[in-house]
Amino acid sequence: MSIIQDKEFANISVDELLIPSEKVAHVQLNNPLEHALLVLVKSGYSAVPVLDASYKFVGIIGKTAILNQILGMERFEIEKLSEMRVKEVMSSDIPTLTREHSLLDGLNAVIDHAFVCLVDQDGYFDGILTRRAILKQLKKDIYMNSYKK
Ligand code: AMP
Repeated sequence: MSIIQDKEFANISVDELLIPSEKVAHVQLNNPLEHALLVLVKSGYSAVPVLDASYKFVGIIGKTAILNQILGMERFEIEKLSEMRVKEVMSSDIPTLTREHSLLDGLNAVIDHAFVCLVDQDGYFDGILTRRAILKQLKKDIYMNSYKK
């Protein structure tokens, strides 16, 4: 499928490039920071979604925010990793999309973020759209376009 040639970029929904929630690493609001850092380091991701106990999306948390939080004047205050919770450090003021948004909306959202979270109409976490997935699709379309000329 060529998103540029076969359909209008603005008319394709982000649904087509979504990584579904069951394949997305996440942490929960009340997890200790230590757990979040373990998930981030083991997965190799820079940030992951934060969900509440009912799997509603509430924010994201990243390695840099955690490391900044535990950085003292002269050392990393490692004990804070078990004392502090994800909800104290996460960012909640970030954009989200729904499956119905267009790839153009997705493209706009990933200009400033490596990934954007998708939620349903009740706020339940649906999955993520990554900058990589959008760029890969764009690259494919640009190549297909240039071969047809
Ligand atoms: P990528 O474009 O694949 O490099 O992913 C960019 C960012 O999206 C990663 O650094 C993570 O923050 C997030 N991400 C991508 N895939 C996943 C996943 N399966 N689970 C959790 N976060 C992910």
